[in-house]
Amino acid sequence: MKDRLEKILAEAKAAVETASTADDLEALRVKYLGRKGVFRDIMAGLSELPPGERPAAGQLANRVKGKIAALIEGGKKALSAAPKAAEVLDVTLPGRARPYGTFHPITRVTREIKRIFHQLGFEWVEGPEVEDEWHNFDALNIPPDHPARNETDNFYISDDLIIRSQTSSVQIRVMEKQKPPIRIIAPGRVYRPDTVDATHHYFFHQVELLMVDRGLTFVDLTNIITLFVQGLFGPDVKVRMRPSYFPFTEPSAETDISCVFCRGAGCRICKDTGWLEMGGSGMVDPNVFEAVGIDPEVYTGLAFGFGIDRFAMLKYGIDDIRLLTENDIGFLKQF
Ligand SMILES: [Zn+2]
Repeated sequence: MKDRLEKILAEAKAAVETASTADDLEALRVKYLGRKGVFRDIMAGLSELPPGERPAAGQLANRVKGKIAALIEGGKKALSAAPKAAEVLDVTLPGRARPYGTFHPITRVTREIKRIFHQLGFEWVEGPEVEDEWHNFDALNIPPDHPARNETDNFYISDDLIIRSQTSSVQIRVMEKQKPPIRIIAPGRVYRPDTVDATHHYFFHQVELLMVDRGLTFVDLTNIITLFVQGLFGPDVKVRMRPSYFPFTEPSAETDISCVFCRGAGCRICKDTGWLEMGGSGMVDPNVFEAVGIDPEVYTGLAFGFGIDRFAMLKYGIDDIRLLTENDIGFLKQF
C-alpha cells in the first residue's frame, strides 16, 4: 500500500510539473482527487487490508492526497502569474488595430478658418444661439417692418426671442462690451425655415468677421477676404466684390471667389460662370455703430458673414449639404 501511494505521488508530481495550462491541471485534479478519481479506489481498497493496518494506511493515504492537492493548487497559482508576463513580454505579436474617430468636415474647416484668422491677429468669440430681437435685428439696423423679420423666415420662440438667423448678432454683443480696436471672428450655427434639399438646410454654419478701427477702408475688407480664401483654397484664388445691399453694411458687397474646381474656366459646379458665391460683406453701417455707442466719425468697420458648410462642400467636393447632418459613418470615415 505504501509503495503504491509513493508511486502515485511521484507520478502526480511529474504530471503537475509538465502541465502547461490551467485546463491540464484541472484534468489532473479530476483524475486524482475527483469523485471517480484515483483516491476513491485507494480509500475503497483500505477495507481489504487487515484491520490492524487500516488506520496507518488511511492516514498515509490522506497525507498523500493532501500533498497532491497542494501540488496542483501551487501549479495553478504559478500558471495564473506566468501567462500574463508572457503576454507583456512577447513583443513579436502584431498590434491590435483600434478604430479611430475622425473630425467632422465642418469641425475641420472651422478649425482651419480659426487657424488662418489667428495668424491675422483675430480673436475667436461665440454668442448665444437663442437671441433677442435687439441683437438679431434692431441693433443691426433692420427696421421693424423689414421682410427679414417675417415669421415665416425665422424661428421665433416668443415675441422677442428667436433662434438666431445669422451670426451678425455676435458683432453687436462684442461691440456692446468692447471698445475699438476690435478684431473678431465668430463661427456658429444659424437657423432659418427652409425646405431641405441638396443645397439648403434649416440650420447651417456661418463665420462672422468684424474688424473696427480708425481708417479702415473697403480695400482692407477686400484684402482680408483675399488672404482668408487663399489660405483656405490656395494662393491663386481670386476675389470679386459685387455691389449689393444689406441693412447693417454700407457699402455692401456680394463676395465671389474664382471657381476652385475649374480655376475660372467654367464647369458644372460654377454653372459655367467661373465664379462661386461666398456671401455678404461690407463696411459697418454708421447706424449700427450708433446703436452700440461707437462714434462713426472716428471709427470705421468691416464685416462679412460666410457659410462654413459651403466652404466644407467646396473643399472636400461634397455635393449634398444633407450629408453633413446625417451622421453616416461611411461618409464621415472619409475625412
Ligand atoms: Zn467652375
